[in-house]
Amino acid sequence: MVTFLSGGTGTPKLLSGTEDVFSPEETTVIANTGDDIELGGLFVSPDVDTVLFERGGALDRETWWGMEGDTHETDEFLFELAESAGLEDGPRYLSDERQTAGREIARWRRFSGIAEFMTIGDKDRAVHITRTSLLDEGHTLTEVTRTLADAFGLEIDLVPMSDDPLATIVHTPDGPMHFQEFWVARRGEPTIEDVEFRGEACSTPAVREALGDRVVIGPSNPVTSIGPIRAVEGVEEALVEAPVVAVSPFVENRVFSGPAGDLLAATGYEPSTAGVAEAYPFVDAFVLDSADGTDLNRPVVHTDTAMDSPEDGVRVARAVDEALSEVT
Ligand code: GDP
Repeated sequence: MVTFLSGGTGTPKLLSGTEDVFSPEETTVIANTGDDIELGGLFVSPDVDTVLFERGGALDRETWWGMEGDTHETDEFLFELAESAGLEDGPRYLSDERQTAGREIARWRRFSGIAEFMTIGDKDRAVHITRTSLLDEGHTLTEVTRTLADAFGLEIDLVPMSDDPLATIVHTPDGPMHFQEFWVARRGEPTIEDVEFRGEACSTPAVREALGDRVVIGPSNPVTSIGPIRAVEGVEEALVEAPVVAVSPFVENRVFSGPAGDLLAATGYEPSTAGVAEAYPFVDAFVLDSADGTDLNRPVVHTDTAMDSPEDGVRVARAVDEALSEVT
């Protein structure tokens, strides 16, 4: 058995090659849900969906979000309507009172659907409607995610990190904002002062069971993808106990993509593989790029960690397997 902790880009790239190395029936993926938001009444779970679409053969691999070949008629008409009605652009937060009313899972991350600031395709939207409707019918996020995973034909077990709300809030000189406002609406431009995981989330039986196995932290953002998972009650202790291998999202101090460097620096770590290793004291072995000469006091397996195709994912998954064999 093996369990991957995943955000929405680096680890899903690795997952695209894992089935050649780790049997899908014995693989669990715990996805970050700190990035989730409610948008126009729909509960959107971006990291869960990237894994869902990737493993279900439906992902748009150019963007690493959304579904391949999706249309955007609803999205486009929403903008047309907002413009005709003279409604100002999003993101438009609902009032403070509304942030903690209604569906508990969407606390502190509730946005109006006017001039949506995220691009949501028509088929993609159908997934959010199904997820939200099942949540409203009384199912947990874990149950709903598994139902969607069955619909997409997943062989791995995909679960959210918690059934409770935990919102990733980035503090900036412009004030606190949800990670999706920071990253999608403001393109990561505001200066990061601090990162907060708002809420007290409990781990689920599925997560606790999965963390009893070997754990792999893919090359995901240590602060805003893995940080929220670690903030779920019981997870950090389980990671200390489990054999854990992590793949660096850096080659020394060069990040492959995204805001991981700025986020690490803002939270007191060097924006580099060395900083990732310092942020992950519970990790027993690392997979680093062949060009990454960072000297770590833990076992290291080197390979080319750039992943542009499923074949690249297979190569990195083999390195992960080798690293796991050194610590189990
Ligand atoms: P997010 O939810 O979209 O932020 O995605 P993740 O947290 O799962 O992944 C973001 C991280 O993936 C970034 O820090 C990148 O450096 C890393 N990344 C993206 N592509 C690659 C790749 O091909 N190889 C490696 N090693 N890391 C990658």
